[in-house]
Amino acid sequence: MKCAAWLVELRNRIPLVLLATLLAVAAVAMGAEDAVDREITPWQPGMLDIHQISTGRGNAGLYILPDGTTLLVDAGELPRKTPKHTPDRPNDSRPAGEWIARYIRHALRHDPKPSLDYALVTHFHDDHMGSMADTLPVSRSGAYRLTGLTWVGENLRIAKVLDRGWPDYNYPKPVQDPATMNYRAFVKWQMANNGMKADRFVPGHNDQVVLCRDAKKYPEFEFRNVGANGEIWTGVGTVTRCHFPDLKDVPKPDWPHENMCSTSFRLSYGKFDYFNGGDIPGVPSEGYPSWHDVETPVAKAVGPVEAAILDHHGYVDTQNEFFVATLRPRVWTLSVWDSGHPTLRVWQRLRSGRIYPGPRDVFATDLHPATRLVVGGIEKLASDRGHIVLRVSPGGGEYRVLIVDDDSESHRVTKIFGPFKSQ
Ligand SMILES: [Zn+2]
Repeated sequence: MKCAAWLVELRNRIPLVLLATLLAVAAVAMGAEDAVDREITPWQPGMLDIHQISTGRGNAGLYILPDGTTLLVDAGELPRKTPKHTPDRPNDSRPAGEWIARYIRHALRHDPKPSLDYALVTHFHDDHMGSMADTLPVSRSGAYRLTGLTWVGENLRIAKVLDRGWPDYNYPKPVQDPATMNYRAFVKWQMANNGMKADRFVPGHNDQVVLCRDAKKYPEFEFRNVGANGEIWTGVGTVTRCHFPDLKDVPKPDWPHENMCSTSFRLSYGKFDYFNGGDIPGVPSEGYPSWHDVETPVAKAVGPVEAAILDHHGYVDTQNEFFVATLRPRVWTLSVWDSGHPTLRVWQRLRSGRIYPGPRDVFATDLHPATRLVVGGIEKLASDRGHIVLRVSPGGGEYRVLIVDDDSESHRVTKIFGPFKSQ
């Protein structure tokens, strides 16, 4: 049906006043500008949205790629809180996994059948995939318990999961803690009964997370796997090098820990580049070998970016000087809820004009009140509370940061920063 005929048909069915209202709403939506105190406008084709979701209980990032492909990076859910943690966001009436699923449905409201094309678990810790307890609700199938990512998967179809272990989960030693076993039971059941696929994250490749809805339209988009399990991209082709020594040469107490094995990736859209390194460390704990620094080889491959999320929530073992100087982003985002996020030295490195020149802004999802007391200068955060939405314009030439209310499900924009120009 041609456009005019379609309008006449609609006119015959709907009263004129209602039709005018519908057209006005559509017009506003199509050219909508985000504004403070208004609901965030829906994603539109060509835009790249990176939502860092604030729950107070772990890490969760929703990526809506330029053709509408959807990627969830982690969906954490820590056990109930201690004074070290900020309160649940928006509140404690629902588990974090359910809040995340509801947030995703709103962010994907442009899609009548919202779903996730990919879910990436950066590593097997509860603040990234969910915890485990006998008191947690059981899935409809009875095969696993609902927490973090498995809650999201119970609410929204996930086409493919990527993690650092599938199918054997044996590096550096079998990963068999109760939370990971629950996640593995979820993957196994979804693959057998729901058509979900699973893949091990392959460092160096740029063909594992791809645009799967209209790729031809956006040739300037790339998702580059950088590292996992100590295997790190060199920056050349798909070539990787093994950063960790052969385990037979390493005393067991020095073996790589879970954070060191985190996945890392660089996402590029035109001139816009973004980095996510999960919980990789860059400052080895006292007395440990220098190869416990994973940030340095990763930074060498990644190079400068427009924006980056802090590794390991800005904890004491991260954001070494070389890493900060090499990535030198204009925008840093922090996924935080704990009094140790970020630490003083990490904050000083982020702010240092000696490490890299030029302006920068730092945004946190949920800064703990204790951090305010002990981290000097932390009041210079551009924002210390709320969902953080990096909204990249079509083509990647510029981007904005929107802060969205996390006190309720109003999805109200509270602050807007930018536009920033991609370099
Ligand atoms: Zn973490």
